[in-house]
Amino acid sequence: MFARANTRKHKKWEGDGFLTIHANGETELTEECGREIARSTFTSKKRAELSDGHILMVGGYEVEIQEEVDALPVSAPVQPPTPKKIPSPVAAQAAAIGRFKSAPSFKRTFATASACASPAAKRRFEDQQQPAAPAAPAATAVLSPMAKPRPFSASSLIKSASSGSAKPFCSPLVGNRQQEKVAPMVINEREVERGATPILLEGWLAAHLREHQKQGVAFLVDKLKSRGGGAILADDMGLGKSIQTIATCWTLLKRKTPKVEDGVRKVLVVVPSSLLHNWRAEFAKWFRATRTPAMLVRKVSDIGLFASAHKITPFLVVSYDMALRYAPALSSCQFDLLVCDEGHRLKNASGKLREALCSLSIPRRLLLTGTPVQNDLDEFHSLLDFVLPGNFGTPAEFRSLCREGGEEEGGGGEGDDSETSPELARLHAAIGECMLRRTSEVNVSHLPDKHEYVLFCAASKLQIKIFEAIADHVTGEPLVLIDQMRKASNHPAILYKHLQKGNADSENTRVSYSSILSMFPRDFGSRTASVKDSGKLSVLVDMLVSFREHGECTVIVSQYTKTLDMIAILCSTLQFRIYRLDGSTPVADRQKLVNDFNQSRDSTNIFLLSSKAGGVGLNLIGASRLVLFDLDWNPASDLQAMARIWRDGQPRACHIYRLVTTGTIDEKILQRQIKKTGLAAIVNVVESLNGQTDTLSFRDEDLKDIFTFKETASNTHDLLECACGGDGLLPLEREEEEEVERAERDDIDEDEIAASVVRAGGVETTTVSIDDGEDTVGEGEEEEDTAELPTEPASMAELFRWRHYAPNNDVPWQHLKAQAGLGKMGLEEVTFALHYCNNF
Ligand SMILES: [Zn+2]
Repeated sequence: MFARANTRKHKKWEGDGFLTIHANGETELTEECGREIARSTFTSKKRAELSDGHILMVGGYEVEIQEEVDALPVSAPVQPPTPKKIPSPVAAQAAAIGRFKSAPSFKRTFATASACASPAAKRRFEDQQQPAAPAAPAATAVLSPMAKPRPFSASSLIKSASSGSAKPFCSPLVGNRQQEKVAPMVINEREVERGATPILLEGWLAAHLREHQKQGVAFLVDKLKSRGGGAILADDMGLGKSIQTIATCWTLLKRKTPKVEDGVRKVLVVVPSSLLHNWRAEFAKWFRATRTPAMLVRKVSDIGLFASAHKITPFLVVSYDMALRYAPALSSCQFDLLVCDEGHRLKNASGKLREALCSLSIPRRLLLTGTPVQNDLDEFHSLLDFVLPGNFGTPAEFRSLCREGGEEEGGGGEGDDSETSPELARLHAAIGECMLRRTSEVNVSHLPDKHEYVLFCAASKLQIKIFEAIADHVTGEPLVLIDQMRKASNHPAILYKHLQKGNADSENTRVSYSSILSMFPRDFGSRTASVKDSGKLSVLVDMLVSFREHGECTVIVSQYTKTLDMIAILCSTLQFRIYRLDGSTPVADRQKLVNDFNQSRDSTNIFLLSSKAGGVGLNLIGASRLVLFDLDWNPASDLQAMARIWRDGQPRACHIYRLVTTGTIDEKILQRQIKKTGLAAIVNVVESLNGQTDTLSFRDEDLKDIFTFKETASNTHDLLECACGGDGLLPLEREEEEEVERAERDDIDEDEIAASVVRAGGVETTTVSIDDGEDTVGEGEEEEDTAELPTEPASMAELFRWRHYAPNNDVPWQHLKAQAGLGKMGLEEVTFALHYCNNF
């Protein structure tokens, strides 16, 4: 495709043509009909640079190369070539080495071009798709596209003349790897419409990118193309941050800039040491392993080696530890782009690591993270400030701006988003300008169905006694008590062992320890732990047995290694073969462990994973069931765990189970998660963060609430004020039924119109609306929850997208069990269940 070079904003491509390059460097640009447009002489260097998507000048014309061709199928010449411009047949016969043409597929990737082309050009464009026309007249013998291809002179760029189908050029770094024939993708389509030079993502990469990844690359290239650019890619796990990064860097590396110093020539990729090998594998996947453009730093001398070899190896991959240690050596390399994987490691604004990376003065920064804002506004500011220093003010300014927005939101009550202040709106816009975040929902169309369940498991008698004993010590250190409750809710034996070990602590704790210990049976320490002492463990046994029968592999995740120990013992008595990955698993062994598990796909295997040590990027698609035995305060950790199985390459529908002990701290964590996972959109992130700068800071009311054991089928469902009765219907489906119900109720008693019937765990509880100042009337244990009801339902509204099931509602309950792969199991301990599917 060519156009007369100009500086006009609205450039018009004038047509499609051919570029013929002779061995002596003589080059002609001709229209398809053979009419010469311009000529030039190419140096061997310029010839070597030719590749798909390359843009160059020929005479006074700007030319974009689409692909190399042999015989050129064209329609009959529109006008005969001008004789004087034809090179001598001898020269051409001896020397023609290759021709290039611009492409029909541009019609798709570069809409403006075909739209503005003349009707004649369009016709030619269409003709080009037709099979070759009969041989052209003798006059075109030399230049005619039908001319027989010559045997090519030696050139790395030229393929064999005898090969029938034209293959696109591969990047020299990719070697001769077989690539699909795909047109390059114009990254900056919008700007091109306004006259900018197209930036092209090479076809062989574009062919492998999914839609959201192409958008991601376009976003990142735009933010990083100029010096001083910065961006955060904060996609959820499993959306392909690595490939988006590689494609972005590659596009920037291949891009020709008017001034050489504005281009990107060297890229420093800093990654956690546990991911070094993942990155090496990723590069090897996209480039031939023997010619990968990335070099790993294993020792300081590698940096010097890189400095001298950067032309063929533009990427240097280094661990954070090494980057910190070898910062002075790295600073001599003059990188143009810095990529930090797991970039939230740089959240500490005064950290040494951050200081070291800043000292390299790299003019473009890209930060990758799946968890951009875990808890803290300062940390979030710190990440933004790292990629775009100074753009977001001081931490204090940033914080007050976010706070201001939050207060307005809170005061507004009904959550009217349009009422945000102009400053806050600007802040959101600025964040949106440099940060891209997509949730795993993007994967929905590419991945199998994902089912999530929350199974509320009744606390055992012993557990209830322990929770009550702990509740008596609310005055103790809250974090210690919370930890004790979490242990007890996994299994009392875990707490028991912990307390016995902790007896040497201060007197205060010893007192509380001994009163909790007194709740255990005398012989508890000497007998083996019973499955029945933990509701969750009892349910887990049913699950594992059932999944094995279904022939599906299961991953079990816990934050506690002691809990994993316990589950390991259980699994071995159930005769599972155990794979285990926790903090003590050497990094070098992890990949093999994962590979073995994935390859065998044997349902008598079980994978035990510590959510804290699991690291990132672990791919456990050999399993299609995943059990979160306990939940993390930070929903991102659990989402990461889920992404181990529900990710690219997973052929089966995935089922993910959260186990919570009913009425306990487990439910509080679940509720907190639900409120926090609404953070998908960045606007929400800032707003929701207000007042939650520390995940584990609680108001007194919260504490009292946390330590009170609630005898209910599901405290979470109670808080929703949902009147479903566990019928498993979604709100829309329920509407019709409610119509009928309402009509019936009207018939019975007008006074009860305001009352809604809540059936909870078989106990019927009636909550009456408080119109006339009367206290809530109710039976059972629910009264004390009403104090916090006004705020809870709104923030947990997410749960109305889930189906709600109560075991006493038999038909729906059986349906849920079948859906969850637990059809034959008793599940006596399950008091309530929630189910969500991305494909409801
Ligand atoms: Zn409900």
